[in-house]
Amino acid sequence: MSKLFIRLYLVNLSFQNRFLYAHESINKCMNFYNRYKKTIKEVSKRHYNKRIIWVNEYLASKSCVHCKESETMCLKFYPHDKLIRYKSKRLGLNEQSRKEVVELIENSKIVCSNCFIKYQNDLIDIM
Ligand SMILES: [Zn+2]
Repeated sequence: MSKLFIRLYLVNLSFQNRFLYAHESINKCMNFYNRYKKTIKEVSKRHYNKRIIWVNEYLASKSCVHCKESETMCLKFYPHDKLIRYKSKRLGLNEQSRKEVVELIENSKIVCSNCFIKYQNDLIDIM
């Protein structure tokens, strides 16, 4: 009877220790996060901005294939603009990740927002 009690006590102790260990690990993790929260957020924002900048830098030297508008903020990729911007924000900046976005860019035309709408509504011939 007492042996069983001791065994149960030890199992319980080991469970408690594991729980305490897990709790301690989570606390350490949260302390680390809280201490460096600002830096972590800044770095991730910087990486995010770099990914956006990369696409905009690519557009900086381009102009609309239809009306020659060259204002970078007005330029879009037809028809894959949404996908290109979504993927370039999501994917990392390494060569392999970029490849997917570059392929989409190569299969798109660069047009301004006005011409983009015209293309979408078949007001301009695609070819
Ligand atoms: Zn245009």
